[in-house]
Amino acid sequence: MRAIRILIAIISLTSINCSMSQDKEYLRQREQMVAEQIIERGIKDKNVISAMLKVERHKFVPDEYKHAAYGDHPLPIGYEQTISQPYVVAFMTEALQLKPTDKVLEIGTGSGYQAAILAEICDSVFTIEIIPELAESSEKVLKNLGYKNVWVKCDDGYKGWPEKAPFDAIIVTCSPTKIPQPLKEQLKEGGKMIIPIGSAAYGQELYIIKKENGKLIEKAVLPVRFVPMVNFEKKVY
Ligand code: SAH
Repeated sequence: MRAIRILIAIISLTSINCSMSQDKEYLRQREQMVAEQIIERGIKDKNVISAMLKVERHKFVPDEYKHAAYGDHPLPIGYEQTISQPYVVAFMTEALQLKPTDKVLEIGTGSGYQAAILAEICDSVFTIEIIPELAESSEKVLKNLGYKNVWVKCDDGYKGWPEKAPFDAIIVTCSPTKIPQPLKEQLKEGGKMIIPIGSAAYGQELYIIKKENGKLIEKAVLPVRFVPMVNFEKKVY
């Protein structure tokens, strides 16, 4: 009996040790990702940099891709969807010039990784995902990581979240062919939106949109490739 207890103690100590060294390895990869893919490419916002250093990206990807979680590319998250490339997450977040008091709307929760980055920087994050399984799994991951300032809803993000509007910032991580009217209306005066516009066939461009005196000022900033924004019938907007 005593021998069995000792054996169990040794096994559990070994597995704690293993997961500690695994965590250390992920931290090393995360630091390398931030140095080479984020800072070297010109991201300067300190809040964005510390969020990218802190959020454990490997916890947002399926087991079979954990080894590649910190690579310079998007990754599959199931249901034909992807978690965005780390640089694109950082670029879009920085472009919004977020403040700690901001209330943000995200369309396209996916894995929940972008929502976690926003939650590190802002006051509150409202995020909408159209695929029920992804809404459920991302909500679970975010809850397990202790985020209390993120609200996930399964719905068609085209409509935005009128009950919680207006938003200081809106980030759209799937691509419609034009800016949804409800999102324009739900952006606060002086607020910023970042959104990919276009189609897989003709190409997409990331736009930064600012609302000034009720008018939207649009600027194309980066060619990108996002999954399309679709309705519940999978028809592209
Ligand atoms: N921000 C995500 C990546 C999102 S991929 C992350 O950090 O992992 C784009 C997501 O947008 C997909 O999960 C897709 O299902 C979702 N999507 C597509 N059309 C949508 C719509 N109309 N409303 C809400 N989500 C939508």
